[in-house]
Amino acid sequence: MNNLASNLKQVSSVAVLGHIRPDGDCVGSCLATWNYIRTWFPEIRVDVYLEPIPNIFKFLKGSDQIRHGCDSEEVYDLCIVQDCSSLDRLGEAVKYFHSAKKTACIDHHVSNGSFADENHVFPEVSSTSELIFGLLEEERITKEIAECIYVGMVHDTGVFQYNSTTARTMNIAGKLMEKGIDFTKIVDDTFYTKTYNQNRILGKVLLESRLFLEGALIAGIARLEDMRALEVLPKHLDGIVNQLRVTKDVEVAAFLYETENGCKLSLRSNGKVNVADIAVSFGGGGHVMAAGADMKEEPEEVLRQVCDKVKAQL
Ligand code: 5GP
Ligand code: MN
Repeated sequence: MNNLASNLKQVSSVAVLGHIRPDGDCVGSCLATWNYIRTWFPEIRVDVYLEPIPNIFKFLKGSDQIRHGCDSEEVYDLCIVQDCSSLDRLGEAVKYFHSAKKTACIDHHVSNGSFADENHVFPEVSSTSELIFGLLEEERITKEIAECIYVGMVHDTGVFQYNSTTARTMNIAGKLMEKGIDFTKIVDDTFYTKTYNQNRILGKVLLESRLFLEGALIAGIARLEDMRALEVLPKHLDGIVNQLRVTKDVEVAAFLYETENGCKLSLRSNGKVNVADIAVSFGGGGHVMAAGADMKEEPEEVLRQVCDKVKAQL
């Protein structure tokens, strides 16, 4: 794919899909595409399907137009899957992928198996939003589109800090700044600001965290009863694994939160260990330094397995 516009020829309807439990890059990249098509191809009908998004992203234009239900039997000319490495991570909306006349995938996960008709997959690129920037004509990137892309880039680079950040990433960020976005507010409001109860569960997980493998692995668990007591949902737990990761001398951080039928595992590496490999071995996926999986076992059992797999790589 050289640009998005050439893929919109002879297309009258587009569905944009992203992964379940959408994060900043997923929401930002999907809404960037939505805003671009709405603004520059008003004759095309475009719908974004995502699970409910965190409130912090609701300032982005078009967030109130996101479809959460999949009752409509619409068959789209083109279905674009963004920031999603496999079809099982699309949730219910996967039906629009299967029924679409043509499919495309724009993604940066190393575990992406290129499942669409057209695949624009670059694992070395820091975010799907950065990829979207490259697919749009610069002069057609409005302030609203720039905000969406910036949100995605900020979230997947940890505010331009992870080693996936390149000179190109920073150049793009600079171009987005020139579109007049309030970059300070975007970073503060969507990345750093936490509610009181989010900070309390972070504190509890950190306080009860444990070191394994002579300090190379740190693990923290959020229990369902604590999440209930503090009225926090899974989407409010972003950032906890990153706080674990910055513990001195740690190679891998594992964060697990209990679910009704097992737990969700998030892994972060400081470089030595490939956590994508570990996540894939559990049926999940992600990147070399940041990956995750949905697990059926309870957290302590998952932790034992993670410990073995990290040990094998050290
Ligand atoms: P997080 O730990 O922030 O949930 O996810 C880190 C990275 O791993 C993200 O890029 C995310 O897409 C990927 N990831 C997390 N959980 C899963 C999962 O259950 N399956 C797959 N395939 N990828 C996941
Ligand atoms: Mn991403």
